Amino acid sequence: MAGLVDIKELIRTIPDYPKAGILFRDITTLIADPTGLRATVDALTLPYVSAHIDLVVGIEARGFIIGGAVAYGLGKGFVPIRKKGKLPARTIDQAYDLEYGVDTIEMHADAIREGDRVLLVDDLIATGGTATAATALIRRSGGHLVSAAFVVDLPDFGGAEKLRGLDVDVHTLVDFEGH
Ligand code: AMP
Repeated sequence: MAGLVDIKELIRTIPDYPKAGILFRDITTLIADPTGLRATVDALTLPYVSAHIDLVVGIEARGFIIGGAVAYGLGKGFVPIRKKGKLPARTIDQAYDLEYGVDTIEMHADAIREGDRVLLVDDLIATGGTATAATALIRRSGGHLVSAAFVVDLPDFGGAEKLRGLDVDVHTLVDFEGH
């Protein structure tokens, strides 16, 4: 299915958002398109049908949209990773470096059980800072991170390579050159 739809064509690029010099790769146009949404979700789901995934972890906020659909497709549950202060029960957190400063993400402390086979999903990987912190949360919880899947890779930021260096299998659908 994915081959019949040009996923890359359906992603809109907004220059200088959220700040000057950034090319924001906007997937809202992709997920608003019914064939685009289906092709994207299928391409992120089908490789894992036989991978014995126990649960899908998605990163706020666009990772919830794609990850939720992937979890549904695999017939598994979904676990959210959120920005600090948003989850109601006991959490574990992980800080990571931004260009200027630090950010922190959280996951419920009881969301993953020892040995759970986890698929991590987000819309995009750039520097890999967010995904690396998510990997740490999953591993600290005792989860086995089977793979991390993204719609978009920005390879010039090196995040996918960084994640592979942490022994994570990384699967991406399209890439955009440049910063
Ligand atoms: P990073 O931690 O640098 O890999 O950034 C990944 C996160 O930031 C993802 O959750 C993306 O949604 C968002 N992000 C970073 N850069 C971009 C970009 N150029 N366009 C759209 N989203 C981005």
